[in-house]
Amino acid sequence: MMAQFLEIKSNYPDCLLFYRMGDFYELFFEDAEKAAGALDITLTKRGKHDGEDIPMCGVPVHSSEMYLSRLIRKSFKVAVCEQTEDPAEAKKRGSKSVVRREVVRLVTPGTITEENLLDARSSNYLVSLGRAQTDFSLAVVEISTGDFFILPTKVGRLDADLARLNPGEIIIPEGLMDDDKIGRALFDWRSVISPLNAGSFDSSFGARRLEDIFDVATLDGFASLTRADLAAAGALVDYLDDTQKGKMPRLYPPKRLSADGTMMIDAATRRSLELTRTQNGETSGSLLSVIDCTLTGAGARLLTKRLSAPLTDPIRINERLDAVEYMLERPSLRTDLRTALKAAPDMERALARLSLGRGGPRDLMAIRVGLEAARTIEHYLTAPKGALEDMAELVADAVSDLGEHEALITELERALVDEPPLITRDGGFIRPAYNEALDEYRMLKDESRRLIAGLEADYQALTEVNSLKIKHNNVIGYHVDVTAKHSEKLLSAPLNETFIHRQTLANSVRFSTSELSKLAGKISEAGDRALALEQELFGALVTAVLEKAGDISVAAEALANLDVAAALATLAENERWTRPEVDDSLAFEVTGGRHPVVEKALRAENDTPFVANDCDLGPDDRLWLITGPNMAGKSTFLRQNALIAVLAQMGAFVPADRAHVGVVDRLFSRVGASDDLAHGRSTFMVEMVETAAILNQAGPRSMVILDEIGRGTATYDGLSIAWAAVENLHNINQSRALFATHYHELTALKETLDAVSLRSMKVREWKGEVVFLHEVGSGAADRSYGIQVAKLAGLPPRVIERARQVLDHLENSDKGDKSTGLVNDLPLFQSTPSYHAPAPSGPSELEEKLTDINPDQLTPKEALDLIYALKDML
Ligand code: ADP
Repeated sequence: MMAQFLEIKSNYPDCLLFYRMGDFYELFFEDAEKAAGALDITLTKRGKHDGEDIPMCGVPVHSSEMYLSRLIRKSFKVAVCEQTEDPAEAKKRGSKSVVRREVVRLVTPGTITEENLLDARSSNYLVSLGRAQTDFSLAVVEISTGDFFILPTKVGRLDADLARLNPGEIIIPEGLMDDDKIGRALFDWRSVISPLNAGSFDSSFGARRLEDIFDVATLDGFASLTRADLAAAGALVDYLDDTQKGKMPRLYPPKRLSADGTMMIDAATRRSLELTRTQNGETSGSLLSVIDCTLTGAGARLLTKRLSAPLTDPIRINERLDAVEYMLERPSLRTDLRTALKAAPDMERALARLSLGRGGPRDLMAIRVGLEAARTIEHYLTAPKGALEDMAELVADAVSDLGEHEALITELERALVDEPPLITRDGGFIRPAYNEALDEYRMLKDESRRLIAGLEADYQALTEVNSLKIKHNNVIGYHVDVTAKHSEKLLSAPLNETFIHRQTLANSVRFSTSELSKLAGKISEAGDRALALEQELFGALVTAVLEKAGDISVAAEALANLDVAAALATLAENERWTRPEVDDSLAFEVTGGRHPVVEKALRAENDTPFVANDCDLGPDDRLWLITGPNMAGKSTFLRQNALIAVLAQMGAFVPADRAHVGVVDRLFSRVGASDDLAHGRSTFMVEMVETAAILNQAGPRSMVILDEIGRGTATYDGLSIAWAAVENLHNINQSRALFATHYHELTALKETLDAVSLRSMKVREWKGEVVFLHEVGSGAADRSYGIQVAKLAGLPPRVIERARQVLDHLENSDKGDKSTGLVNDLPLFQSTPSYHAPAPSGPSELEEKLTDINPDQLTPKEALDLIYALKDML
């Protein structure tokens, strides 16, 4: 057996091998050690190999999904090796023969289909990166739905495209990471990358694979595919074939998406704007979590896709907005629609499982119920008078895509019981009266059962033992059971001719009879036949469903589209969001804009109202320089405008009273001084790398959000860099931009740069304290209020007082070399500072002590002690 294990294992060196032994999957050697650690299960030993103990661990087959999911989440791959013959067959070959085993499937993060292993509301993409000279392409498949598309890309935007897809697994040709630029672009994804033999990324081989799979003589009928596309798609198909062991998922000819049609958002921007995840990687607190009102898994996945890839074509954006508006204007239709959607199961994923031969009766049920929901929804949408005339185009498209599935619905309705089991193994999912032969077998089975029940009375009469029972268990099947007291009677003549002794237990004795065995035989035969027939019927139903797979998945997509439109309408209604005006201009004009996530958090925390703010980046004012103290709301304002652009272009209403957005082709957002310790790069380096990316790429159609850039270095360096960056943005990039800074000196740029506009966060001083109004006003902030903010934060009064002195000094000193002045004038900066020595011009030790006292917190005893202490200091 070990020989067999080692042979199989040698073909899957990078997978954990789940080796089937009876009711367990066993793991050996290093696999066992890795899995035991990852799963926190016991590591044991079994036998010896080369004189050493063999480490082993195992998981029960019936609960293996749970273990698989934990391994997949930790980025392991698993090869599932099953027994592929009956142990009895192996015995026939000789007593030492080992049962034949084969790997039937590789489970990898990008190729899972099980409901339990997948998140219903997010897509799990498997991505393949193909290359032909300098061309790159991503082939993308979502195996759990059959979605297959190709996204041409470039080294420069690889990171952004991957960030948009957020793949579960990426396959690349071996050695590709060694290329410096590509290695850098893929760096963040290294934990999900599987390098494969470069041979499977050959484009002519790819073309042949696609021709095979779609059974066509030439690929001319498909969108024209480049060599990079073919390399990527071919390797992807190859990998699927390899992992699914020939059971190809149902795939459609790949759609070739153009990256040009979407807003480019790189990974750093996505992180900083927290579109689908927060910076900590959580979903809750992201923009997605606040806008997601969808009711179905497919709807949630579609919404995520849209949010991850906002469009740049105003026509398509407006089509989506029309659909949302259509739903918004028809609240009762929307309510009906959403009620029906709630009942719609995930047809896409059920269909994918069925096509891979991994489906069960409940997947058939999902198709039936899903198609019924589609029927109901179609009725809601088309029934009202005149509904078809003024229907938004996308809604009308969805209606026609919902299609007509009466025959299949009826068939499934007739065939399946109301609550079918998850798997086919034990039968019991076909409804009575669906198949005559099946009914017959079931009747035979029931009949025999009845006869057995009748036998009990007969035997009681025959033996005159009223407590005699006929029982059933899995070991000896049907048997007669009497108490030990009565057993003598049955063991002796003449009854011992009828009752054959089987077992003696402590309190009872068991017998079989030939009549009973005969009936039991009939029951089991009828049962076997019924089961075989049910499975056959299941196969036929699956075939019937798969014949309609195309139409069903189109219907499923239509439901997802309607779900998203209705969800965005519901969101707009609940939150009073408005339809943005989106066109080809360079406008960005928002009145009464809000940050949806901050607004929601404020509401949840203490019901504080969010202060809405306007933003207008017209041609004369396209670069706003925003100053104001920390905590005044600069970052919030910056981000809310970027989010409004994203929302508008994904085709959603926006959190503003009014918004006019000229499409943004690239969106950049950077926040200064965020530590990226995980990547071993210094704060400042990260900031500069990211700023460089913007200054090199942004154009007049782009939107740029820079928050406190230059903070990560010495003041004058930082100021100079920020200064030069603003000049570059203004003169070269000419993008619409919001630039928040604490360098007041930058406001001088207004003099030389025409399109710069100065803004500041309004603050009011009240009894020496600052009050943030969170309102964006015109002009520069007069002061930074840093010290007041520090006071709010609870810095000791002594430090605050001292900081005031330093500030006074700085502000009043000559414009010359301030720092020398500081060192000379302010004792704290003396070259040999002595903490305890009284500073000549500062407060005395006694004064300091007095400043530190908070009389309200003193007990009388402490106050007295203090007086003594103070006196001592004189
Ligand atoms: P800054 O970037 O200026 O340091 P933030 O944008 O981080 O300030 O805002 C600090 C806090 O102020 C936020 O967490 C939020 O609670 C509050 N805040 C910001 N903007 C607003 C607003 N427009 N209305 C109400 N509260 C706001």
